[in-house]
Amino acid sequence: MDSTRLATAFSAAFAAQPAGFVRAPGRVNLIGEHTDYNDGFCLPMAIEREVRIAWAPRADATVRVGSLQQQGVVTFALSGAIAKATAPAERWADYVKGCAQILIEAGHAVKGCDLFLTGDVPLGSGLSSSAALEVATIHALCAASGLTIDGTTIARLGQRAENRYVGTNCGILDQLSSSCAVAGQAMLMDCRTLALTPAPLPAGVSIVIADTGKRRGLVDSAYNERRAQCEAGAKALGVSHLRDVSMHGLWQAAQAGTLDAAARRRCEHVVAENGRTVAAFACLRAGDAVALGELMDQSHTDLRDKFEVTCAELDGMVAIARTLPGCLGSRMTGAGFGGCTVSLVRTGDAPAFAAELERRYRVAFPAMTPAVYVTGAAAGAGRL
Ligand code: ADP
Ligand code: MG
Repeated sequence: MDSTRLATAFSAAFAAQPAGFVRAPGRVNLIGEHTDYNDGFCLPMAIEREVRIAWAPRADATVRVGSLQQQGVVTFALSGAIAKATAPAERWADYVKGCAQILIEAGHAVKGCDLFLTGDVPLGSGLSSSAALEVATIHALCAASGLTIDGTTIARLGQRAENRYVGTNCGILDQLSSSCAVAGQAMLMDCRTLALTPAPLPAGVSIVIADTGKRRGLVDSAYNERRAQCEAGAKALGVSHLRDVSMHGLWQAAQAGTLDAAARRRCEHVVAENGRTVAAFACLRAGDAVALGELMDQSHTDLRDKFEVTCAELDGMVAIARTLPGCLGSRMTGAGFGGCTVSLVRTGDAPAFAAELERRYRVAFPAMTPAVYVTGAAAGAGRL
């Protein structure tokens, strides 16, 4: 991404030059879905799409923020409780306000600044434009305030802003990926300890993301319902999180009648997915792209049949992908109900795969506008 347009927009909005730039990437999760809030494992990497912010300090305790993707500039004061947007057109800035509020609540001396941002992470498609915005915002506020905060803490603060201020009950996956990703590597993420262990993709394979164009409508309620079902399952099994459960434990609980059939299916996905994610990381270490692809396929099947968070568009995109040359595995990625799929494709086949996937999906789902991206693994957030 080039900062020229951003610098021009900053100057036009604030009649001054930016003092610096920060960036934070979106992310794609290769495997380990709906495991983060169960204290389990994920295998994300940062993508080559990001939110970038131009910043400059101010002499007062005011923040002004604009976005190339939105109209107008939003202004707020850094004193007391920062009020959320009343106008729907200003709601995007709640991510920025939330980060300021959470930093202040954590005891940091946040100073006034002017911020102008842009992003090429598609909004609302499950590639975490919101986490990219939060993590970039915290970097910008830190830069303008002379603060230094480590990457894991930035991720936690960003998650807290989204949970408490914006009001979305997301896990740590998105913010930790954006904040701490390593260039050229995927990362095994332990969502209990927040430990990240990087490993490169096997040689000769590429990651292809396909946006179905289907936007998650009433997802928040379905997402919260799945979370509640997992929490109830853990409680019935006498553990704090499903991370601590085995397939045998699930079977025993079902025999004893402590887990009904529906709850068991939800829990089975989470328990199996944790196992698959650890196995997928071993595949990365061994350079075994074929086995990794098979695990991705299995993940999708469970997300469809046991966790029930796919939809016709996601299932269709995955089915088409698997018929194309060079595809080793394909699955939905993100919360589900719409958004994107991720496919593991032999690098030589990737350009034709991407073009043909988009073409065939358009034929199968004429009402949708898909977008297909081949992406490398980008670096985590930081100052430029
Ligand atoms: P996702 O994180 O999957 O992209 P979310 O619904 O969680 O979807 O977050 C998308 C929201 O984040 C947007 O509706 C907008 O409010 C905010 N956002 C993300 N990127 C930008 C941007 N470049 N400019 C303004 N707002 C943005
Ligand atoms: Mg989001």
